[in-house]
Amino acid sequence: MKLLLSTLFISLTLSACTSSDNQVVTSSESSIQSTSLNGPKNIIMVVGDGMGPAYTTAYRYFSDNPDTKEIEETVFDRHLVGMSSTYPARVSGYVTDSAAAATALATGIKSYNGAIGMDVDKKPVESVLEWAKKQGKKTGVVVTSQINHATPASYLAHNESRRNYNAIADSYIDDGIKADLYLGGGWQYYIRDDRNLVNEFKSSGFHYLDNYQDLNKLPHQKPVLGLFANIGLPWALDDTNKLRLSAMTKAATNHLDDYLGSEQGYFLLVEASQVDWAGHSNDIASAMAEMTDLAKTMEYLEKYVKNNPDTLVVLTADHSTGGFTIAANGVYNWDPTVLHTMTRSPQKIANKLLDIDITVKATSALFNFEVTQAEVDSLKQAKKQGHKDVISFNKLDENAQQQIKPKPSIHNSIYSAVKKLIDQRTNSGWTSGGHTAVDVPVFAFGKNSEIFHGKIDNTDIAKNIFTLLGK
Ligand code: MG
Ligand code: ZN
Repeated sequence: MKLLLSTLFISLTLSACTSSDNQVVTSSESSIQSTSLNGPKNIIMVVGDGMGPAYTTAYRYFSDNPDTKEIEETVFDRHLVGMSSTYPARVSGYVTDSAAAATALATGIKSYNGAIGMDVDKKPVESVLEWAKKQGKKTGVVVTSQINHATPASYLAHNESRRNYNAIADSYIDDGIKADLYLGGGWQYYIRDDRNLVNEFKSSGFHYLDNYQDLNKLPHQKPVLGLFANIGLPWALDDTNKLRLSAMTKAATNHLDDYLGSEQGYFLLVEASQVDWAGHSNDIASAMAEMTDLAKTMEYLEKYVKNNPDTLVVLTADHSTGGFTIAANGVYNWDPTVLHTMTRSPQKIANKLLDIDITVKATSALFNFEVTQAEVDSLKQAKKQGHKDVISFNKLDENAQQQIKPKPSIHNSIYSAVKKLIDQRTNSGWTSGGHTAVDVPVFAFGKNSEIFHGKIDNTDIAKNIFTLLGK
């Protein structure tokens, strides 16, 4: 990697960039256009949001066939090439959020937590997707969050805060349409009282779809906007298609390749957005279901690259989430058995338990595995405690209520107990409801994948992609 990279970067110098407010700054400038560089035709960047090394390892044991002697290799094992550091700009310390990390992956510069495609001085920085489009490539984003969430937004927008959801959604039209395909969630931001961005996309020639079935009948020669949920898509466990990232990715590659096909190929961002959300919730059942969808997506891409060897696939995480550990409490055991039978997310199970009489029979039916009397008692106790907490909260004056975060609810009390039950069955551990700063794995295969080998930084991923795109 070192040799090839130094050759590739020989003409690149990091430039301290200056620009007016509305001008996009580039992170690197090339003194010699690398036209001689024969980079891949198609680049597929995959992000497992929050997918630290414990997640890909846990997926190996989760997907292991216990009836065979060996522990089967996963698609992640086959393509692991190195590790990446994730720290944000100095001003935000060592622990990154998804916005700063995605800005690094998309633009090659480190920024502050919350930044969307902007540097520490709040100047816009060009993304690999924007640059790819300028090179004549088709572009697309496929995510399980809303399409204006931090990760996709960092490739498509420039905003000082990830929280400006409506402004980021507006910018997808107002700053010029940058992608030929968008698949994910977000009705709430795209169909609003003050503005209907879906109609604006349609007026710009886009085909619009709002259900997964229609992914199989995308029209030739038309750019595509597919929104399938109000905000993010349902948890994989609860969705009508539990492999929705895989389905969307298949549709996207076919569409960008065959239907919109250009000589120049395409750049596609794919994000398993909700590995992170499962991590924040400390929910191992949802985490493994999201990882399954991602693994199936990677297995599809593996075949795709066999048929289209001029394609590069890179997968990494923006950071790890939840401080997830495979085994906890000093017990040398991690047992994913019950995770295989579950058909509902813990969140959904908690919703149901809120309304019913909690019995062994009813609870076992919801979890879809045999729950013990002691476990049922713990759920009943949580429901009772939730009730009590709400009553005492309601007795407090407004000032005192504001001090208590999060606001107690019976649902949350049951939800925590449901997750605790699953953690105890599997012996999963968590140290945080937020992100952790551990380095994340990097996976790559296909054309030019060797330049991602070794210990790299998240900014190197964008820098390498820029190089492959002749910048
Ligand atoms: Mg994300
Ligand atoms: Zn997160």
